[in-house]
Amino acid sequence: MQTAVITHAHGDHLRHGSARYIVARPGASLAQHRLGSGQPVTAVDYGTPFTVGAARVSLHPAGHVLGSAQVRIEHAGEVWVVSGDYKRQPDPTCTPFEPLQCDVFISEATFALPVYRWAPTPQVVEEIVRWWRANRDRGIASALFCYALGKSQRVLAELRAFTDEPVYVHGAVGALTDVYRRAGVEMVPTLTVTSEKKTDYRGALIIAPPSAAGTPWMRRFGEHASGFCSGWMRVRGDRRRRGYDRGFVISDHADWPALLETCLATGARRVLLTHGHSDALARYLTERGVSASALQTAYGADE
Ligand SMILES: [Zn+2]
Ligand SMILES: [Zn+2]
Repeated sequence: MQTAVITHAHGDHLRHGSARYIVARPGASLAQHRLGSGQPVTAVDYGTPFTVGAARVSLHPAGHVLGSAQVRIEHAGEVWVVSGDYKRQPDPTCTPFEPLQCDVFISEATFALPVYRWAPTPQVVEEIVRWWRANRDRGIASALFCYALGKSQRVLAELRAFTDEPVYVHGAVGALTDVYRRAGVEMVPTLTVTSEKKTDYRGALIIAPPSAAGTPWMRRFGEHASGFCSGWMRVRGDRRRRGYDRGFVISDHADWPALLETCLATGARRVLLTHGHSDALARYLTERGVSASALQTAYGADE
């Protein structure tokens, strides 16, 4: 592919192999970080049209992670919008989702089942703080597993309402947090976990990617409690199967009510669904007179 128009920097949406990459300006540094410095990344402002072949294209906020974008494509009098991953909840680390009108809407459907509903984020972050304090009272560390790109920084930003204490972060989280900080996102202070100096982690909060769970990297924290911050934690079976002490339901994807509302609000006569649970959502939309079906893509779960 010559030109890749990128919705956001998660691994299943940004891959090597293109001659150039077009991204929304707030996400340019993240894309560059992920692709490597030699790769040609072009930043465009939200809402400013450019052309790709015969199509007029523009990027609009998706509210998923820093710089995430929906792609609006206008060609031969028809408008298609590709949502990328999106959410409708407030998030201090990125620009809120912009509702668009279109003929065809390609929507993600990661959490498209009625069981998936999100509580207000500050409420869940308060639960995290209470859990952290309770673990501290027991003299142990709290290891909170969060996706390294997006979720970690959102939690670090939301924590500002409760504390200004530093939080320890895994190196992978720390590198991306630096990119967010340089982009002007305000978060609690962070300290990167290193093997160089011996640290007493009792009472500390550590944010690490899920891939670090159960690895030797965790040994340095001694006895600790573990929590996972994810939309998947809404379902008890998932909590049990993944073996974390606690699940905190915070997601960077739209929940069931937000998916329904968003798909209908576009006014699209046709909706194509990617990621996960497309069937229930397709049925709901079809009952409301929208032609809806699943679209096979190479997207997967974030990271
Ligand atoms: Zn994503
Ligand atoms: Zn995705």
